[in-house]
Amino acid sequence: MAMEYPCSAADIDVAVSGRRQRRLLSVSRYLHPVKGLQPSPDPPTKPEEPPTPPHHWLSLLDQHYYGQAEVMLRLVTCWDFDIFIFDRMTNGDAVVFMIEHMFNTYGLIRHFGLDPLRLRQFAVTLQDMYYTRHSYHTSVHAADVIQAMSCLLQDPKLKPYLTPVDVMAALLAAATHDLSHPGVNQNYIVKNNHFLSALYQDGSPLENYHYNLAMGLFKTSGLLEPLSQQDRTRFGEVVQALILATDISRQSKYLALFSTHIQNGDLDVADEQHRLFMLQIVMKCSDICNPCRTRLVSLYWSHLVMREFFRQGDMERGQHQEISPLWDRHSTNMANTQSAFISFVVEPLFSLWNKYSGSALSSTMLQNLQANKQFWTTSK
Ligand SMILES: [Zn+2]
Repeated sequence: MAMEYPCSAADIDVAVSGRRQRRLLSVSRYLHPVKGLQPSPDPPTKPEEPPTPPHHWLSLLDQHYYGQAEVMLRLVTCWDFDIFIFDRMTNGDAVVFMIEHMFNTYGLIRHFGLDPLRLRQFAVTLQDMYYTRHSYHTSVHAADVIQAMSCLLQDPKLKPYLTPVDVMAALLAAATHDLSHPGVNQNYIVKNNHFLSALYQDGSPLENYHYNLAMGLFKTSGLLEPLSQQDRTRFGEVVQALILATDISRQSKYLALFSTHIQNGDLDVADEQHRLFMLQIVMKCSDICNPCRTRLVSLYWSHLVMREFFRQGDMERGQHQEISPLWDRHSTNMANTQSAFISFVVEPLFSLWNKYSGSALSSTMLQNLQANKQFWTTSK
């Protein structure tokens, strides 16, 4: 069902002339957003301002850059895919391009008889539901998680067992998992009696909010109408389980269960419930995989997330509240925070994933993680 992708530039059957391709790649290097964020001997303790995307240039060159985006999409299941360049090449429409491409290449449009126009309208609405005012929880993060999900779904231990509805639900859970994120964390929402904490008193207010928005969007878009009742039930079950699994405060529960399964060697992904659990693990990996990316891309994500955290800290200061630990731009050391996040949150998950998968990709992810952890540790 899933298409095999080439994984190096040499593998691309280039549809453009060599001269045109060299020109496009040269432009892409020029526009690379992380160019100004080279590691320095004294890493900043607060996020630097990311460069402003040159949208006003790109709007004049739509056709030119969409061609470049099409070339990039041929490498979309390669781990070193640069989502920041892709977002610029698509003039901020990374989510729309990514969803349309995935649905085509995974054969989902044909399998379910989906209406391509309805799919496009759905993807555009979904993308617009992410706020652009945040630094981290934007549609670029959603596009990045879709791309990571697509890589992980290619895992040899999972791929042969995935049904079309599993693939569709996993990709759309990745796309919607932070829908309309308010840019503050659960702690802030609860202590400020935000309406979300009153709505979802059983826990995971943000994740329940994202899930319910997603289901509303699926319903109003009519996207799922061609699916059978059985497929729609499974779709809803997978999307809910995957979005709720992104609540980082429940991380230890998932890790304990995953570890037990690995020790017992009893994971059978042919079984629907075991497969659902593994899709949750894949979702969690996709969501927090930034430290597993190559150095500059990973660094850029670190700056963006810290910038969003510090904005919350600023709001707490402005409201004369106690500032959440690590959210205070005047006292938080970025290297310490990143190093701790990698060691205590990301590494345990990816170590288990590598133990389970044992693939070349899982090993590359862990190597990148170790290198980035080393960078932050020596930058303290
Ligand atoms: Zn996320």
